[in-house]
Amino acid sequence: QEGERLQKVLARAGMGSRRACEELIEQRRVEVNGKIVAEQGLRVDVHKDEVKVDGLTVATQAHLFFALNKPAGVVATMEDPDGRQCLGDYVNNRESRLFHVGRLDTETEGIILLTNHGELSHRLTHPRYGVIKTYVAAIQGPIPRDLGKRLKDGIELEDGWARADHFRVVENVGKNYLVEVSLHEGRKHIVRRMLAEAGFPVEKLVRTRFGPIPLGDQKSGWLRRLTNTEVGMLL
Ligand code: URA
Repeated sequence: QEGERLQKVLARAGMGSRRACEELIEQRRVEVNGKIVAEQGLRVDVHKDEVKVDGLTVATQAHLFFALNKPAGVVATMEDPDGRQCLGDYVNNRESRLFHVGRLDTETEGIILLTNHGELSHRLTHPRYGVIKTYVAAIQGPIPRDLGKRLKDGIELEDGWARADHFRVVENVGKNYLVEVSLHEGRKHIVRRMLAEAGFPVEKLVRTRFGPIPLGDQKSGWLRRLTNTEVGMLL
């Protein structure tokens, strides 16, 4: 018989014991290719069939997803021929063959996703899908009232216009400002270039969110596995 039993696939994907997964099926919370599963023992092909629990796609293949809080000074590549600190220093990559989703400047800190899911990684970084990234930048004020409007209207850079989707001041102590900028494009140094062009060179930059995945209070240099819910939101 082809494929694998659904409860086995669900259990392997971390949805609970096989018995618990049979219960999920019994409670009619499991969908395969858009149809609620009504019987036990259905077989699925993890390479073809889409499995959802409570409406969220389940990563049924042996795909791994991590979020790293990249420290400043670490090169955003899996290996560095010059021996500088790089992402590969934070994971044992011999078996999992992870790669990073998109880029982050060496000097920029914050969330960067690592996965062995090639197609998803490609999709998440493709401009067409426009995943929103959020950054917090340290700049020196005073800043004009309309800085947010200017960033949202668009800043003309040497390689074309760049627009922010959201802007807000997070914190202000004297002349020190922390501002949050969200945008869905990924040109090199885009946030630094936009703020510099607006007159506010960035002193420190942290990516605090990648699409639906927040950095939260994850410590610098720490790696965490994404939860099944988070993976479902990315897929
Ligand atoms: N914008 C930047 O300036 N740097 C990054 O690493 C990402 C976005």
